[in-house]
Order: sequence, then structure tokens, then C-alpha cells
Amino acid sequence: MTATLLTLQPRPQDADPSVDHAIQAIVAGASTAETCNTDLAEGPWTFDVRPGYGPGSSMGDVIPTGSPRQGELPAQYREASDDELDARIVAAKAALGDRVVVLGHFYQREEVVRHADYVGDSFQLANAALEHPNAEAIVFCGVHFMAETADLLSQPQQAVILPNLAAGCSMADMADIDQVEECWEQLSEIYGDMDTPDADGLVPVIPVTYMNSSAAIKGFVGRHGGIVCTSSNARTVLEWAFERGRRVLFFPDQHLGRNTAKAMGVPLEQMPMWNPRKPFGGSTAAELADSRVILWHGFCSVHRRFTVDQIDQARAAHPGVRVIVHPECPMAVVDAADEAGSTDYIRKAIEAATEPTTFAIGTEVNLVQRLAAANPQHEIFCLDPVVCPCSTMYRIHPGYLAWVLDGLVEGEVRNRIEVPLDVAEPARLALERMLAAKPPAAPAPVAESLS
Ligand code: SF4
Repeated sequence: MTATLLTLQPRPQDADPSVDHAIQAIVAGASTAETCNTDLAEGPWTFDVRPGYGPGSSMGDVIPTGSPRQGELPAQYREASDDELDARIVAAKAALGDRVVVLGHFYQREEVVRHADYVGDSFQLANAALEHPNAEAIVFCGVHFMAETADLLSQPQQAVILPNLAAGCSMADMADIDQVEECWEQLSEIYGDMDTPDADGLVPVIPVTYMNSSAAIKGFVGRHGGIVCTSSNARTVLEWAFERGRRVLFFPDQHLGRNTAKAMGVPLEQMPMWNPRKPFGGSTAAELADSRVILWHGFCSVHRRFTVDQIDQARAAHPGVRVIVHPECPMAVVDAADEAGSTDYIRKAIEAATEPTTFAIGTEVNLVQRLAAANPQHEIFCLDPVVCPCSTMYRIHPGYLAWVLDGLVEGEVRNRIEVPLDVAEPARLALERMLAAKPPAAPAPVAESLS
């Protein structure tokens, strides 16, 4: 547990990495910046009673029926000031000591991340939990699929806690297990026996799922000879899959699939889209027969906001700007950028720049703000001029973190996430295949990071 996730840098006096503070200032008229929704200035418990993903990037996405809902947060947490919540969290963590590990995703709000023992991407954080097999509880300040992954990798007696059950992920929700099973059935009508290799030793389809998917989807993939990938190792994983299958069924993120396969030389015409609301995904039998990568019709509403126009404007306003975007962005945006890479790639690229540089970054605004505050020698800004965080990450407010930690102090486990055994076993198999294809980077303590 020694690799540095984010190197600590002196923070300039006036740098405030808090996206919440930026939004509060916009709403109070103290800032001329724009936000995608002024409701973001309210506590997320305001939205727990309503269906939907809440304000932020995913507010236009359709939430599946039966998505987990969060019960009402007690008034003492809703009405507490920021300082009171900070003090409660610090006191609860001190009382719990090594009994608890708090994990904070790169995209999480600053007010929560500052209390995290580790900061990283979803898989780095799940692995960070492995460093603490004796901790009774792992509090995952991220979204639902991340807590599920931590549960898959943690000890059975450890409780993985998601502070707000409404913190889902609209992209993960776009690949529903029933739709995926139906897709597999339809593909078997076209390709025949899906399990028996042909004369070249290749099966018709290898399913590949992005880490940003439910445990049920990871379990499906594990049962059908497939594998999980991250945005860091998607190419390695696709190479693994092409050694075993004629083609890949990639879900849920069409953009990561398309950008990765295109960089590997797969022609766009061999990447049909699978729209689960259309028969045979909306493609013809000939298109599917000729395909190399079948792309599920999913996307991240945070990364879909980035446009080529924004890149053109950044280049016009900042000659020499270095544009780096996440591979969940649409292909045209990735093509127009100077570089594309995972969150880990982005922060390493910034830290490796030896000369003062202007960076325009195409990823979630909380991470960009924190990178800007931690690297004052560079000018770093979000490509999207509108302050619009990930809707679901934003549901984890310090009030919820204080509530679950106080519960542990009182001997009560609140908001435990548990993956059923029949799903967990094949899902772990799919993760193990990924680890065997290429191990991920090791996690680091937050003392060495930039929270
Ligand atoms: S940033 Fe996108 S993929 Fe990540 S949790 Fe938010 S909606 Fe899901």
C-alpha cells in the first residue's frame, strides 16, 4: 500500500477545491460561473424522497424501477453545520480506530474525501480494502457498484457500507441483467452454440463488462467465459478476449468500448450498437455476423457532456493548452484531444509535467478541482465550463458519512451492501480473469494523496 495515488502539493491560499462551495457561491450570486442545476446547493436528502438520479449530470437519465432508495436522514445530521459534521466524523473515526476503513472515490466531493483513508478509482479502492482484512467495516464513499465490488473482494465477516443507498450509477444501470440475458439468447440464435470453440479454438462471443456495472452483470460475464475491465486495462482485456473469441460483447459503456477497439485497429463498421429496446439490438444479422465488437447502448452522462466545441474553445483561449480526456468521452472528443486516459493516467500526466503547463481536463469536476488545487504550478481547468458533478456521487454528503460512522460506534451497521453468493462466485471469477490478464496498480494511503 505504498504507490502514490495523488501526490501532495502545497495548496495556494485562495484555492478552494470544493465543488459544493462553488455551487453555493453561484446560487448566492457571488460567482458568475454557471451550474447545471441550482438544486445542487441543497442537501441530497431533499431528493431521497423523489424518484430519479437527482440534480447533476445524470438528471436526464431514466432510473430503473426498484432502484435502492435511501430512508430519511435524521434531523440532527440534516441540520448540522459543515463544521459540526466534520467534528462528528473525526470523533467517530477516532473512536472506531482500525475497526473501520473509509474509501473515497476520485469523483467524490471534497467535504467527504478529506475524511477518506484512501482515495482512488473504484478498483484501486476495492483493493485498498484488502489491505485491512481485520477492519470490521469498509465505508465506501462512491456509488453502488463500487460497494458491491468491495464486498466481492473483502472478507465475508467485513461489512461494506454505502452511506447513501440512492448513490447508484446511471451508466451501470443501463445494462440490466434481464436485458443482457435476452441479448445473449438472441445472439445465440445468430451464432449457434455459444460455448463450443470453432476449428480455430474461438467461441462466437466473449462478454466483457466494464468495472462500472452491477455485480449481476459481472456474474453473467463470469458464467459465460468473460472478463471485467477497467479504463486503465481495457486494451489488455480486449486482447485477452480476442485470443478466446471471434468477437466481444462489450457493456455498459459504448464509448470506452469504441475508443479502445478503434485504437486497436477494429473498423467502426465492425462495431454495431446493441440497443436492448430493439430486436437484435437494432442491427441486421449480416452486421452481427461481421462484427468484432458489439457495443451496448450505454454511456456516462458526466463524460458525455464533453464536446469538440469545448476543446476548440479551450485551444482558442489558451494557445498551447494540453487537452486530456477520459475514454468514457465520445469518440470525436477523444480524437480531438491530445491524450485520453483513465483518472489515474490523467493525474500522473499532470504530476509528470516538469514545466508549468495549461491543462484542459475532460473528466468529473470534483477531481479536476482537486488536481488544480494540488498542482498550483499548472493552470488546470475542466473542459466543461458548467459546474455539473456526477449526480450520484454527489448523494454522499458528509451528513450520511457521519450517520453511518455514528451507527458503527453505537454497534449498528447501516446501509450494508451484500452480493448474494450465487452472483458473487461467478463475478469473482470474472475479476480474477482480469487480474490474471494484468494486475492493477497498488493503492496508497491518503496521507500521500491530495485530499
Ligand atoms: S461518473 Fe459516470 S460512470 Fe462514474 S459513477 Fe458517475 S454516472 Fe457512473
